[in-house]
Amino acid sequence: MQHAVRKYALLGWPVGHSVSPPMQEAAFRAAGIPAAYTLRPVPPERLSAEIHSLCTQGFDGWNITVPHKQRIIPFLDEVDPEARAAGSVNTVVNRDGRLIGCSTDGCGMAAAVRESFGLNVKDSAVVFLGAGGAARAVSIYFARHGAKRIWIFNRTLERACALAEDIARCAPGVRAEGAALDARDRQKVALAEADLLIQATSLGLHDGDPAPMPPEFLRPGLAVVEMIYRPTQFLRDAARAGCRTADGRGMLLHQGAESFRIWTGRPAPIEAMRHALDQALTQ
Ligand code: NDP
Repeated sequence: MQHAVRKYALLGWPVGHSVSPPMQEAAFRAAGIPAAYTLRPVPPERLSAEIHSLCTQGFDGWNITVPHKQRIIPFLDEVDPEARAAGSVNTVVNRDGRLIGCSTDGCGMAAAVRESFGLNVKDSAVVFLGAGGAARAVSIYFARHGAKRIWIFNRTLERACALAEDIARCAPGVRAEGAALDARDRQKVALAEADLLIQATSLGLHDGDPAPMPPEFLRPGLAVVEMIYRPTQFLRDAARAGCRTADGRGMLLHQGAESFRIWTGRPAPIEAMRHALDQALTQ
């Protein structure tokens, strides 16, 4: 049954800080699609009941953020190859009761990097700081789309090595290496070869956080992208070192645009979404 007003949501715990509602509602408005996009705070133990309730209420799709991106997989009827490889779903589309899970984080970051730096994933050499859920989704996407070299530096060494192994398993053509976040010699070598540095730790979210790596390692011309939506001290230091820089709003915009495309089958009205996002983030 087709609903007059389509229903979408973001599930997470917490979700109060999210700027996805104004961004997606601007997209639906610009596309002339009557739709509402709401926040659904869902503690982990309520995820199953929440999915049931969304289906009963006729929701057409939803986004998923922490801590549900992995946990939702068993509740889905189908998981697309990108999400399957990343082990993470951030977009669900409800096709006549069949729930299909997708991951748009990697594709969102790839589009952001192309837009900000004119840099393509294919044949790129990329340093990741962090090995959490976002670094995993993006690095596996990059590996599957032709990156030739990937370094993962993470506070917890085991997580860095495990991610590097998973990357090599799902894209045998890529050379992947994991190391500790404070492995300075290896960072120097990696940064001398890299085209792009992706800062994917949560360091920088709070005032007074230490830098994820010494800014003096950054060389002029290196492209540096921060996953955090607002400019951080690390990004300011990178700009001062002569790097080309971008904050995380490009990724946020383009992963949301890809969700919109999956839900509606139409290209996203990017400029309307960008405008709404910029407004929401300056409030
Ligand atoms: P996770 O919690 O899954 O991972 C956090 C990462 O940060 C891990 O690598 C963790 O290392 C590291 N970390 C946390 N605290 C410290 C510390 N004190 N010192 C060193 N490393 C630390 O989070 P996500 O991967 O989901 O998110 C990471 C960042 O990306 C967040 O800032 C998030 O807001 C942002 N993000 C942005 C998106 C966008 O669209 N722009 C989309 C998704 C996320 P360890 O493994 O050792 O714990």
